Amino acid sequence: MLDGAVTLEHVNKLFGERTVVNDVNLEIHAGEFFSLLGPSGCGKTTTLRMIGGFELPDSGRILIDGRDVTHDEPETRPLNTVFQSYALFPHLNVFDNVAFGLRFEKPGSVSTKSDKERVMEALELVALGSFSERRVPQLSGGEQQRVALARALVLEPSVLLLDEPLGALDAQLRARLQVELASLQRQIGITFIYVTHDQHEAFTMSDRIGVMREGKLIQVAPPREIYEKPATIDVAKFVGAANLLPGRVVSTGVVEISGVKFAAPQSAPMGDGMVMIRPERIHVGTGTQQAIIERVTFAGSSLRIALNVGGVKLVAEIPNDENSRHLEENAITNIDVLPDAVRVLPLN
Ligand code: ATP
Repeated sequence: MLDGAVTLEHVNKLFGERTVVNDVNLEIHAGEFFSLLGPSGCGKTTTLRMIGGFELPDSGRILIDGRDVTHDEPETRPLNTVFQSYALFPHLNVFDNVAFGLRFEKPGSVSTKSDKERVMEALELVALGSFSERRVPQLSGGEQQRVALARALVLEPSVLLLDEPLGALDAQLRARLQVELASLQRQIGITFIYVTHDQHEAFTMSDRIGVMREGKLIQVAPPREIYEKPATIDVAKFVGAANLLPGRVVSTGVVEISGVKFAAPQSAPMGDGMVMIRPERIHVGTGTQQAIIERVTFAGSSLRIALNVGGVKLVAEIPNDENSRHLEENAITNIDVLPDAVRVLPLN
């Protein structure tokens, strides 16, 4: 059996009178890249800190590989943490910073490799094998982050907790390290639990995402499902742009928005709901429904088109290519919204 399965059972945390983590139930699989995603203050970090043993839940249990660790000290749990601030020692070189991680090793733990081998292996993992002699001030932000990662990995934990570890880096470097982190996780196969408020980051790297809001875990699913089939209006709004309009499913596969009919999936529940249509799922220029182009906004690789469909205002996003060049404001065009581009969400 693979190690590194983490279970949260009815976990609650209060700070003073305020419940910041509210009855969270979650099963993270061994070897999974799992992200906790949500706006600032929703309780992600507190949840991660309880898994790490830095905070004690007010009620509920935390299990790692079936063992109840709720009250165990951080250093006795089979996990390690990478924080946003790397907290490296500037006076030590890269090798010694990583070797420092070994000091936290549990007494009596057995490793057949020498410490030197283990440090070098951890540095190779993060592609810093040739940097062992370098001093911390001689490293870029991205390299420092990788040293912090190596320091956490040198102990060979079953679970690695990462709290916005790329938060301090610029956008380009972040994008590169996201790819590196995801492939590193797949290579070493340990469980990563990653906290972020950046949906792109969560989408790029994760096997599954847990979306949190106001202390509650509101949806747990793979990235594509979170984006295409959000469970609630809040999830739809938080992960990407969305047209959200009140409507009513009037018959199987037909939804009416302000008197205008659109195709909907056969499975859409009858009655009132919030209709979600992602902008990139609206085809503009061809289709069966007439629309007026009210505005065309240039956004580099794409164009945002504000449409009026019989009084219903929709925003479409289409690629900036030879097909979109001819679209002009105030012109009439045809659009298509395919049934599977439409989701009808519960109103609350
Ligand atoms: P961010 O992305 O901004 O870090 P988060 O989702 O990780 O947000 P938490 O850090 O878990 O959120 O905080 C949840 C709430 O609990 C916040 O309102 C925060 O101010 C509060 N909080 C966190 N730690 C403490 C503490 N030690 N004492 C009191 N309140 C706290």
